Amino acid sequence: MRERADRRRAARTAYRTLLAASEGRLPIDVKAIIKKLNNVQIMSYTQAALALGDSFSRLTQGMPSDSACTLVEEGPAGIRYLVLYNDDAGYGNEGRRRWSLAHELGHILLKHEEDSSGAEIEADCFARHLLCPQPLLERLDALDEDVLCVAFGLSRSAARSALRGMEAARILVDEDMRAGLMELFRPDEGLLRPGQKVACALRRRRKGATRTVREPNL
Ligand SMILES: [Zn+2]
Repeated sequence: MRERADRRRAARTAYRTLLAASEGRLPIDVKAIIKKLNNVQIMSYTQAALALGDSFSRLTQGMPSDSACTLVEEGPAGIRYLVLYNDDAGYGNEGRRRWSLAHELGHILLKHEEDSSGAEIEADCFARHLLCPQPLLERLDALDEDVLCVAFGLSRSAARSALRGMEAARILVDEDMRAGLMELFRPDEGLLRPGQKVACALRRRRKGATRTVREPNL
């Protein structure tokens, strides 16, 4: 049983996952990352209830967690995982759902075999670094909960916790990972560069005036 949490390993695994499977856009698309993994499937509680011919409420009552859980099956072709998540609109917000999916993915990629407090801490640490990559967080100069909720798609409590743990998380990022991430998330829009002054490209249309839209120069 893994009681001691290895936060550095959890953070490194999150960054390796981003470098291998993320499109380099925020908020991180956790479902898209999970779908890229050959042996991991994802299904909502609603889809699972339909597949089993069960009612949503009976299915959720039988689940080990209100938010999400992972079923594991070991067969001749290796281990397969099914991540199930609660898609009930009345249960939490999108930020919380995204965190739950990232947490379950953390359990899978960190190869946790048993429930333990250490495994839970590691899965949360993985989710924090996957959804809210430290090098990108450090680039923001306006650090408040609202900014983090919008930029990283976090719930308010996750945003608060990311801000509180920011200094401690700094040392978990190796320099090679930092450089790779900055490259991955570099804006590729040619017009938008750091430090560039942005002016409104379109003048407000006056009432009654017509606007001429020019053909692009080809
Ligand atoms: Zn867990």
